[in-house]
Amino acid sequence: MALVDLHLHTTNSDGTLTPSELVRLCASNGLRVISVSDHDSTEGLSEAREAAREFPGLELIPGVELSTDVPGAEVHLLGYFVDEEDAGFQRTLRGFREGRVDRARAMVERLNAMGLRISWDRVREIAGEASIGRPHIAQALVEAGYVRYSRDAFDRYIGRNGEAYVERPNVTPVDAVGILAANGALPVMAHPTYYDDASQEGDDRGLRHALEELKEAGLVGMEVHYKDYSSDQVARLAALADRLDLIPCGGTDYHALGNPGEPEPGAAGPPLSTVESLRRLKRERAVDT
Ligand code: AMP
Ligand code: FE
Ligand code: FE
Ligand code: ZN
Repeated sequence: MALVDLHLHTTNSDGTLTPSELVRLCASNGLRVISVSDHDSTEGLSEAREAAREFPGLELIPGVELSTDVPGAEVHLLGYFVDEEDAGFQRTLRGFREGRVDRARAMVERLNAMGLRISWDRVREIAGEASIGRPHIAQALVEAGYVRYSRDAFDRYIGRNGEAYVERPNVTPVDAVGILAANGALPVMAHPTYYDDASQEGDDRGLRHALEELKEAGLVGMEVHYKDYSSDQVARLAALADRLDLIPCGGTDYHALGNPGEPEPGAAGPPLSTVESLRRLKRERAVDT
């Protein structure tokens, strides 16, 4: 098990554990440094921070994850050491969360038009106060018996190329990096192999180009360790990170969605030296500004 897991979700977005439950699980899995990185929300960080106080050996890095669509794929950007007090940034996040509501409703309408009878009210109820996302729709589809597991809903209906998928409002990866950088957060590309099909299959040319462009905009790292990456994938991404001088990050992207074999916090993650590199960079930037 890893000592560091920098990619975790809670009930403040599409995870099913509260921040306190998540922090306790991380502590019992022996983690030393974690980042709670909810989609378009920092609302869970204060509870997570409070819960982490019970575990002096566990450090919490405040994080957030922004999502963007690119043709045929998705790019997600993590932001570490995010400044939650930044009012402009919080306004931007609120805007993104509102956009998520419209988009989720449009996906439910598409599913309804396809004859899948799930109600928008139920999806909203599942999401509660959270930053709403496709896993909430997937859960409604599981409940209604249309699919067995959450991930089947993505494979069949609401994955990036699924019939009921609806794109999000137009934010580019460069925009998202800029939003994070303006906040003072350190922007890191999440799960880089989702960038395009070629990269899934081992051809990183498109990904490399995208990373180079994002680095110009302020990207400082990329995930190298992730959920279920094989050692070959990790080695390949580590070499790419090294070549582009990006900090190799990572984590499990844990959501507690109940998919079979879902890797627990700490099942994948970077070494402690990654945290040192991120901290050093954050300190240098604080001095510069
Ligand atoms: P959204 O933020 O609404 O676009 O939903 C994206 C979220 O759906 C991701 O953060 C994951 O939690 C989840 N997700 C994306 N693809 C899959 C998949 N193939 N199987 C299961 N969950 C997925
Ligand atoms: Fe998610
Ligand atoms: Fe993601
Ligand atoms: Zn995530």
